[in-house]
Amino acid sequence: MSNERLRGELKKQNLRITSQRENIFSFLVEHKGEHFTPDELYKAISRKNSRTHISKATIYRTLEMLVKMGLISKIDLDDGFERYELKEESGHQHHHLICTVCGKVYQLDDDLLDDLEKIIEERTGFKVKDHQLKIYGICPECLANEENELKPKLKVSKK
Ligand SMILES: [Zn+2]
Ligand SMILES: [Zn+2]
Ligand SMILES: [Zn+2]
Repeated sequence: MSNERLRGELKKQNLRITSQRENIFSFLVEHKGEHFTPDELYKAISRKNSRTHISKATIYRTLEMLVKMGLISKIDLDDGFERYELKEESGHQHHHLICTVCGKVYQLDDDLLDDLEKIIEERTGFKVKDHQLKIYGICPECLANEENELKPKLKVSKK
């Protein structure tokens, strides 16, 4: 399956291909675009592969290893947890929009920063490898709620 990518990287770095490493990576591939805490991964992967035991320590270690290998990203969505998501082969493919009212995370599926990276490289001679971006705002749902609240309420007197 898509584990070819993982196997190739492990080989390059002379690391062993283990079923635990494969299970963690393929879970993230299957749930592309989702953001997991190590704890959530531990529960989901243990449930899915009930025959092979995996410890929390292995999950943590493997996640850090995958980040170093450039296969996944560690992200902070301001909810107090460290989260991990798959990094696509062509680099990351979406950015996060965080609603400051409800805390919900939306995704922007385009990476509009490729041009910015090019400009930075041209101006500074810096070879850009990655970037992080979080956009804060108010989501459409919360905006609609806010507007409703601002509307003067009709005073209906019941008599
Ligand atoms: Zn994401
Ligand atoms: Zn919201
Ligand atoms: Zn980007």
